[in-house]
Amino acid sequence: MSEPQRAVVIGAGFGGLALAIRLQSAGIQTTLLEKRDKPGGRAYVYEDAGFTFDAGPTVITDPSALEELFALSGRAMSDYVELLPVAPFYRLCWEDAEPFDYANDQDELDRQIAAKNLADVGGYRRFLAYSRAVFEEGYVKLGAVPFLSFRDMIRAGPQLARLEAWRSVYGMVSRFIKDEHLRQAFSFHSLLVGGSPFATSSIYALIHALERKWGVWFPRGGTGELVRGMVKLFEDLGGKLELNAEVDRIETAGDRVEAVTLMDGRRFPTDAVASNADVVHTYDRLLGHHERGQKQGRALQRKRFSMSLFVIYFGLDQPPTDLPHHTVCFGPRYRELIDEIFNGDQLADDFSLYLHSPCVTDPSLAPEGCSAHYVLAPVPHLGNADIDWETEGPRYRDRILDYLEKHYIPGLRRHLVTCRHFTPHDFRDELNAHLGSAFSLEPVLTQSAWFRPHNRDEQLHNLYLVGAGTHPGAGVPGVVGSAKATAGLMIEDLSA
Ligand SMILES: Cc1cc2nc3c(=O)[nH]c(=O)nc-3n(C[C@H](O)[C@H](O)[C@H](O)COP(=O)(O)OP(=O)(O)OC[C@H]3O[C@@H](n4cnc5c(N)ncnc54)[C@H](O)[C@@H]3O)c2cc1C
Repeated sequence: MSEPQRAVVIGAGFGGLALAIRLQSAGIQTTLLEKRDKPGGRAYVYEDAGFTFDAGPTVITDPSALEELFALSGRAMSDYVELLPVAPFYRLCWEDAEPFDYANDQDELDRQIAAKNLADVGGYRRFLAYSRAVFEEGYVKLGAVPFLSFRDMIRAGPQLARLEAWRSVYGMVSRFIKDEHLRQAFSFHSLLVGGSPFATSSIYALIHALERKWGVWFPRGGTGELVRGMVKLFEDLGGKLELNAEVDRIETAGDRVEAVTLMDGRRFPTDAVASNADVVHTYDRLLGHHERGQKQGRALQRKRFSMSLFVIYFGLDQPPTDLPHHTVCFGPRYRELIDEIFNGDQLADDFSLYLHSPCVTDPSLAPEGCSAHYVLAPVPHLGNADIDWETEGPRYRDRILDYLEKHYIPGLRRHLVTCRHFTPHDFRDELNAHLGSAFSLEPVLTQSAWFRPHNRDEQLHNLYLVGAGTHPGAGVPGVVGSAKATAGLMIEDLSA
């Protein structure tokens, strides 16, 4: 009998984990190598003074894509992790307008839309129909299919043209909806995958239909519990996870990769390698010794990268009074601020924030009577604004906390028990993210599908990518979809 095939996956983010589960479920002996001391990548977990803080993803959508990972080996996700429904999905707040509870209830949505602008009730219906059409094409049909040749792109061309994919998300929303606050409410979603609503293809309007179809969820115990459940599944299947295992080099022999070496010198011979690490890091650094790595590394550095984020994790000695689970706090400017975040060379004076208050759904994330929160502000990446975050970080933190105290959490400072922050420098240094980008390559049309780094390298035949930098892109459903696309190729190649 022949030996089972071996694969190495570099990086235990959601994409790396989902791929490792798929490979191991297919009988490929898989080793997952993670640089940090915990798995999850952007979904890392901090535990401070009895509070649990999910570092990254908190809006869990498309649970069916996650359930599929467990079903591959006849298991049930519910035996590993419980998902709790979140309602409303988000509360959208402005300084100069009534809040909008974005709920999965048509009557409730109609009532709130009518209160802002009666004519937009019909417009919203037409927008939803458009969003559902792009969801079918962009997510259901193409979300987990690798775009390896330009022919694949040409095949998708007529549909992209019919759906007017060259328009921006904001441009498309504005065709249907007239009220400026509602335009913001239905266009901000592309920021969740690292794209400006003014530059990202209208295909990304599909996120709205995706949320309406499957809802917004939160794992009991936090997103970290979902990561823990996926790791357990992988290990139950016989997979091996190595933490504190930073990869130094992907070794090659001709047009094939043959092993992975760690910083500590350990060497893992393998039949295939998939990298979940940042794409520039993968080519420029891990393959920097090979002409393919140098060439692709240079090409990728010329691409547009998504913005970075500044995140504050804080615990209060009071419950999350009067707050929903997710609040989007729009500042006084929308288009101008987003333009400065994506193209500016410094921090703007104002900000738009996302406030996460998970104890609304699950009080177990904080000691009794207390609440855990995080607040994030999108900020320029380091290639646009080379900010000295060691100095600026504490100042920016204080400005944001002052703003929250004034507008959303009265008495915040008095109730503050613990506080830490994460800057673009941390994205760069902790996660090896090029320019400290929070979401990898910006999801503009010219960097999507075939134009994104491919799920399988063109030259090194047994090297693959998975995660935010490859097709389809960032966000938990995106990277879990990338794992499906990449696993399909790897399983086929390894069994050939
Ligand atoms: C603050 C924040 C909030 C977000 N909120 C949401 C949300 O609510 N919903 C949603 O769907 N998405 C959200 N996202 C986006 C989503 O989290 C990411 O797109 C997704 O998690 C990225 O997964 P990934 O598989 O690309 O890997 P990553 O999470 O980027 O993980 C890559 C892993 O590779 C490891 N690595 C890097 N270099 C090496 C090396 N040399 N050797 C070994 N390991 C290495 C890193 O340590 C890391 O663990 C959010 C992102 C952030 C930052």
